[in-house]
Amino acid sequence: MAEFQTNQFINNEYVPATTNEALSIFNPSDDSLVTDAVQVASPTDIDAAVTAAKRAFPSWAALPGRDRAACMLKFADLLEQHAERLAKLESIAMGLPIIAAAGVGRGPAALWRFYASYAGRIAGESYPPDGDGTYKIVQYEPLGVCAGIAAWNATHVLAAWKMAPALAAGNTFVFKPSEKSPLGALAYGDLIKEAGFPPGVINIVTGAGSVGAHLASHMQIAKIAFTGSAAAGRAVQIAAARSNLKHVSLELGGKSPSLIFDDADLDNAVEANSSGFLRNTGQICFAASRVLVQEGIAAEFVKKLKFAFENASGKMGDASSATTAIGPLADRAQFERVMSFLEGAKAEGTEVLVGGNRLGDKGAFVQPTVLLNPAVDSRVFTEEIFGPVLCLRTFKTEEEAIGLANGTEYGLGSAIYTSDISRALRLAGKIEAGTVSINAAFNTSIHTPFGGIKQSGYGRESGIEGLRGYLNIKTIHVNLNVPKRT
Ligand code: NAD
Repeated sequence: MAEFQTNQFINNEYVPATTNEALSIFNPSDDSLVTDAVQVASPTDIDAAVTAAKRAFPSWAALPGRDRAACMLKFADLLEQHAERLAKLESIAMGLPIIAAAGVGRGPAALWRFYASYAGRIAGESYPPDGDGTYKIVQYEPLGVCAGIAAWNATHVLAAWKMAPALAAGNTFVFKPSEKSPLGALAYGDLIKEAGFPPGVINIVTGAGSVGAHLASHMQIAKIAFTGSAAAGRAVQIAAARSNLKHVSLELGGKSPSLIFDDADLDNAVEANSSGFLRNTGQICFAASRVLVQEGIAAEFVKKLKFAFENASGKMGDASSATTAIGPLADRAQFERVMSFLEGAKAEGTEVLVGGNRLGDKGAFVQPTVLLNPAVDSRVFTEEIFGPVLCLRTFKTEEEAIGLANGTEYGLGSAIYTSDISRALRLAGKIEAGTVSINAAFNTSIHTPFGGIKQSGYGRESGIEGLRGYLNIKTIHVNLNVPKRT
């Protein structure tokens, strides 16, 4: 088993919490205990982390951009060098298949490098006098101490989305990983020191919702970047409003639609809606879990999708095995949540095309599942399941497809499969979602903003928009008509 840290990382030191509380992690592949010693931050510990970040802020913000970038670039290199170890820590905590190891380093490292390139290069604007005798300057400044609260399904991407733009802009940071997957983030401490970040620039605290809630209501934190469920996101927004009106960005859940038209490339649509959907065992916020298929192609699509999901069952297994493509769900709670959706759907008489049951008798495994024609107001069709469970309905017309696609409180991802680019672009404009993917399962890119609308949240991460979220905008007006005193 990989070595890991269970202490928090504050002011460049690993320290135990001042509580006697600790969290346990069980390996979701076999239910074995990984550790019962993950520290739970007390309000005193959180204050210590915030104080360290506040103390570090003026000098970090004043460093030449190239020096901030040097730490970030070194950290990116270290993420890649330690990718296998970091992947093992995700694997034993939340079931990430170990074959994804390279991706654990590569994707986040690319984000760190992308944002490092902006350090010291955040340009402002100027406006000449326009008959008002005033020269105007708009400049962008760091916010101060920022905090990130993450979900468990992609810790390293979420950490990079939040910390890298914040640090490039000159902010300092307190990061709280999910209580389900804290080990990879806790391993950052040594890498942070080796990368040369001064003490207090990045701090990592651990614990569950109460620790997140304390961060959200902290008076010295200028921004919370939150990724998680809509319920917790709402609580974060309320806490921010009740405390110091800190900035909040919310990356919340999804129930993303996938629209497949008669003229779509069938094999591409099947591949994207099976292996594309089943990445991370369906535990991806933008996974297109509501598949809508036009009637003319439906019979053939359903036949091929069934075959692909049956095959996928055989690729599911122990996350530490080099032959496993699909791991377990993150933990027992997530397993029970997904099973309760399936039991509910079966009790309502929803047809199970494939799967529908637990896989094996240990670990948090649920068979890759397709539910056929669940009622549009059923729980499985309206609520985020966050597992390998896909709902499929058919439609006749574009209008009907758009109505079904938008009939959700969420608005994160979406996909359209068609060989008619005019139709794809026409519908892309009508879909209520932060992202639209045409003829592909959704992927993220370092260059483009990522985020949702409706109850999938607001604010954007990734791309230049991700950087803007960590900046105060200051406007300076200079009166040009005051004569110089001599
Ligand atoms: P969750 O809301 O239970 O927990 C997320 C984080 O919030 C954890 O760190 C948790 O400790 C913390 N938290 C819980 N209650 C809190 C509170 N009251 N105040 C502050 N922090 C609190 O979510 P989860 O089960 O860990 O993750 C799954 C959810 O995350 C899904 O809804 C998924 O769609 C969403 N998600 C969204 C994105 C995105 O970018 N939109 C990415 C990944 C996951």
